[in-house]
Amino acid sequence: MKKYFLFFVLALVALPLAGCKNRVRVELTSSPVEAASLRGAGTYSPGEEITVSARPEPGWEFVGWTQGEEAVAATPDYTFVVRNKIKLTANFQPLEYAVSALAQGPGSVRQPGESASYGRDYSLSAIPEGGYRFVCWIDEGEIVGYKADYTFTVAGDRELTALFWPDLDLEVGEGGRVEEAFTLEPARVSLKAVPAAGYEFFGWLDLETGQEAELGEVLSFTPDRIRRLLARFRQELVSADGSDLAAVVGKTTTIGRYAPADLVELPSSLSVKGRRVRKEVAQALEVMAQAARAEGVVLDVDSGYRSYSTQDDLFYRYAKRDGVLAAERYSARPGQSEHQLGTAVDFGGTNKNYSDAFADTAPGKWLAANAHNYGFALSYPRGKEEVTGYMFEPWHYRYVGLELAREWKETGLTLIEFLSAKGLVP
Ligand SMILES: [Zn+2]
Repeated sequence: MKKYFLFFVLALVALPLAGCKNRVRVELTSSPVEAASLRGAGTYSPGEEITVSARPEPGWEFVGWTQGEEAVAATPDYTFVVRNKIKLTANFQPLEYAVSALAQGPGSVRQPGESASYGRDYSLSAIPEGGYRFVCWIDEGEIVGYKADYTFTVAGDRELTALFWPDLDLEVGEGGRVEEAFTLEPARVSLKAVPAAGYEFFGWLDLETGQEAELGEVLSFTPDRIRRLLARFRQELVSADGSDLAAVVGKTTTIGRYAPADLVELPSSLSVKGRRVRKEVAQALEVMAQAARAEGVVLDVDSGYRSYSTQDDLFYRYAKRDGVLAAERYSARPGQSEHQLGTAVDFGGTNKNYSDAFADTAPGKWLAANAHNYGFALSYPRGKEEVTGYMFEPWHYRYVGLELAREWKETGLTLIEFLSAKGLVP
């Protein structure tokens, strides 16, 4: 009994010791390290047949097993009999993927090659032809980039399209910004004007035609031709009381749909066309015309009161003929015309009507020297377009009353500066 027990104890101690002494290590690495997961590393008994395996990560291709410099197997699974300690390397190379890049529309694409290795950064550039612009990069119907230079990490085949559309020449006026969005199917560009605080949107101007393309904040169109657009903003308008002789009427104020209640028609001696003005103005005109006549000068009122809707028609007729920007230099928008006050008149009766040369006619000269003594002020003097918003109009006078007219003349200010300085506008 004792003898057997001793043998058993010896076996327990000796066997592991023998195993430890004789087992050999199998070490595995992959090149590069990130390219694969490996199985089969460990310690084995000499003479044992084992299989080591290399499983590539996505994007990597197995090349072969090597031991030192020597190739030992060409398959990912390598079966061999362990004899000595061994160090094996599983070698991989990155997969090559095809990259195609096409231009849709008039433009070209610059790419470094038609294939690229897995994991590499790959950069493309889209170059539009003259008159066109790059819009976006598309891959399988999805937009993947908005910049002409597009870089991605290669992880598979790519089929990219660079989209080119006719140019958008967009000017954004002071007082706001524009947000652009577009859809591919159907191809539409959508521009949204966003006014800054204290400003309001003032229409989309098509700079090609000079006409307003859209008055709403959103302008949407098919990109089928070059567009030159201006997004306009203006300061929020201040309301003025049209019944006030000293009302500030200009590009930043509005009298809305005000219409005077005391309009009278001028006699033909004062206005061949029988224009209408407010009663008080008609009386002042009568007195002034008499004084002029005494000095041999005949005054004739060619234009007087104009209603909101008349001004609306007039402005848009001019805008259609000359373009909106040009029309704004000499014609007011409805709600912003001194003629709507019923206190402003355009003098005519010469062969130089509505031209700078009117200033040199007898009525032009007489009015410039004397009108303030009858309650009238020249609204749009020469060289003050920046201030008044209007070109020189030597024929256009506005009645503000004798006291204000004389005071205005003293100051040398433009009428709008003078009236604004009186503190009559917030
Ligand atoms: Zn006028």
